[in-house]
Amino acid sequence: MSMRVPFLDLKAGYLEIRTELDVAYQRVMDSGWYIMGEELAAFESEFADFCGTRYCIGVGNGLEALHLVLKAYGIGPGDEVIVPANTYIATWLAVSQCGARPVPVEPVESTYNIDPERLEAAINSRTRAIMPVHLYGQAADMDRINDVAAYYGLKVVEDAAQGHGALYKGRRTGSLGDAAGFSFYPGKNLGAFGDGGAVVTDDGELAARIKSLRNYGSQIKYHNEIKGYNSRLDEMQAAFLRVKLRHLDQWNQRRRMLAQRYLKGLNSEIYLLPLVPDWAEPVWHIFAVRTSAREKVMAYLADNGIGTMIHYPVPPHLQPAYQELGMGQGSYPVSELIHREIISLPLWPQMSLDQQDYVIGVLNEAPSPAM
Ligand SMILES: *Cc1c(COP(=O)(O)O)cnc(C)c1O
Repeated sequence: MSMRVPFLDLKAGYLEIRTELDVAYQRVMDSGWYIMGEELAAFESEFADFCGTRYCIGVGNGLEALHLVLKAYGIGPGDEVIVPANTYIATWLAVSQCGARPVPVEPVESTYNIDPERLEAAINSRTRAIMPVHLYGQAADMDRINDVAAYYGLKVVEDAAQGHGALYKGRRTGSLGDAAGFSFYPGKNLGAFGDGGAVVTDDGELAARIKSLRNYGSQIKYHNEIKGYNSRLDEMQAAFLRVKLRHLDQWNQRRRMLAQRYLKGLNSEIYLLPLVPDWAEPVWHIFAVRTSAREKVMAYLADNGIGTMIHYPVPPHLQPAYQELGMGQGSYPVSELIHREIISLPLWPQMSLDQQDYVIGVLNEAPSPAM
């Protein structure tokens, strides 16, 4: 039996909650108020509750969320911020946008997240912050990262763009450092129908500064205390996100169920399967496996109608955009190895068990490295 299974089906998520989204759409349109209104205020309060933080500030996207946190901490030219070598380039760009320098640190090979053991070697007198990423929806080892940060007096800014609802020792991502940036890009676990992002924090001073920075440096209309930006989460996206937030735990639960089925069904002699440390409860933004026969496997899956992706094909330090850092091939071998072997498999909350069984069957017959 043959089937078509896309890598991701965002429309299935829309259709499942269409009537609730229609109500939200109508409410916003009828209100006559489209930027910085009641929907945003309500979403900010609901998302702060969800994360277990005191404040949430909606912004234009995930990159802006991270950038505004660093900016609000006064991080700029001459400063350094530690970032994972193994991440999406947005983490690095947030640092570069402030005029500071991203300093990469290798991941733990089995979890793909930043290696706490290697942090100290990257710290010097210019270091201001550490930005761990909860890659693929699994929390980084935050207690150990926070210990190092506390010892050297550094801020910890979580890049939680892939980790909505993920747990670390029972606590939600977003509440694990000094501040966190979330993205609501449509494909994220909590995704809008356009761009969106948020900062969450317990730090009231930081929250006030970001509220001002996102809106031209002004908290009172036409009174500009600092040079700010235009980076706001609009009423329509906030209203849609409020609807989707009500479903997030359940949708994450379905992702967990599907991830468990992959872990049980895939042949672990052919594929290196994700490792979940006992302190992590991931939300499986991405389910990625590794094989040295990646190109052959991806082609075989494509021939059988199955979509896959690579997160990510080229690490930030090897991108032309970061040529100026002068870090060639071999600078970050663990990250480079992961980038060479990783494949992301189809997984979304509405994926059917039949679709998944088909993917598992095809994967277990795909060409292996020895062939
Ligand atoms: C998606 C993502 C971002 C950026 O979010 P945008 O909303 O697209 O700006 C940042 N960091 C990571 C790890 C991401 O996956």
